[in-house]
Amino acid sequence: MAERDDEKHLRSRRDEQGRYIHPWPLRAGSSRGFRDLMRWRMQRMRAGVEPDPPGSAFPVATPDIAQPRAAHDELRITWVGHSTFLIQLHGANILTDPVWSRRASPVSWIGPSRLVPPTPSFDELPPIDVVLISHDHYDHLDERTVALLHERFGSALQWVTPIGYRRWLELRRVTNVTELDWWQHVALDVHGARIDIHATPAQHWTKRTPFNERTRLWSSFVVEADATRLFFCGDSGYFDNFRDIGNRFAPFTAVLLPIGAYEPRWFMAPAHMNPEEAVQTYIDLGSTGTFIGMHWGTFRLTDEPAFEPPQRTAETWAARGLPSQSLWIPQHGETRIMRVP
Ligand code: ZN
Ligand code: ZN
Repeated sequence: MAERDDEKHLRSRRDEQGRYIHPWPLRAGSSRGFRDLMRWRMQRMRAGVEPDPPGSAFPVATPDIAQPRAAHDELRITWVGHSTFLIQLHGANILTDPVWSRRASPVSWIGPSRLVPPTPSFDELPPIDVVLISHDHYDHLDERTVALLHERFGSALQWVTPIGYRRWLELRRVTNVTELDWWQHVALDVHGARIDIHATPAQHWTKRTPFNERTRLWSSFVVEADATRLFFCGDSGYFDNFRDIGNRFAPFTAVLLPIGAYEPRWFMAPAHMNPEEAVQTYIDLGSTGTFIGMHWGTFRLTDEPAFEPPQRTAETWAARGLPSQSLWIPQHGETRIMRVP
């Protein structure tokens, strides 16, 4: 089902142990090991971090979801929280990295807890056609949400992932899975509309258990329907190949980029961009369409103050002279409606 294209672009690559590695040199040095993790945790204990703000500090919007589907000339994007979006495009309902659980964790009683409940609630969702999973970290691949989606939508739901997720999903009775390498794509027929999903590179990693580090691939995605193109970044450090993605797919109608989980830089930079790098990524991707900020204000994973990501993104945006109407850092539950050809 998946088709190979763009043979000139870099595929994913593995080392002798079969673990995925980056085929380009990392600007911020090699990825971090266990010793660095311990150093970060010690530093954090000594220096402390700003406490979590109360959930009431975050305004929550009322979603404006098209039920059951958006009109053919309409794109509606609703931020559920973190990297979870409901994208309603050409009559297709697509979820990115769906997480409706209270914690981003293998267990329900410990681990990063949500600052703001997922909005809309799971029961308020319209029928979902496609789910994109960018990688296997607990704040992006949530077992309970996978079970809820499968229970409610069954084989009507099409799952698109990078390489290495089919077996995990099949063990949870999900069979309608397309795995893609970087620069591969799949053409989906959703209620008569053609939606192309392209897996594109990202600079990140994977791990769910102590034994499966980098045994699955990670990716970003381009969603394409007629002349509408969206870029969903998943998690990524800043790297040079965003320009390749822009060269291949720009102009974008909207790009969904992570703006949080970046401090301390000595530890996070290889795997997480900061707000300045997110704005540079938008420029590298071709500087068109709406910048949509994500991966902040929901699960607090790292050391930056909770409200710093949107502030720094807005400051950088203005300093780079970009048009203010093209920056959208949604409130939880907020929907934006765009006209598309
Ligand atoms: Zn991640
Ligand atoms: Zn993440």
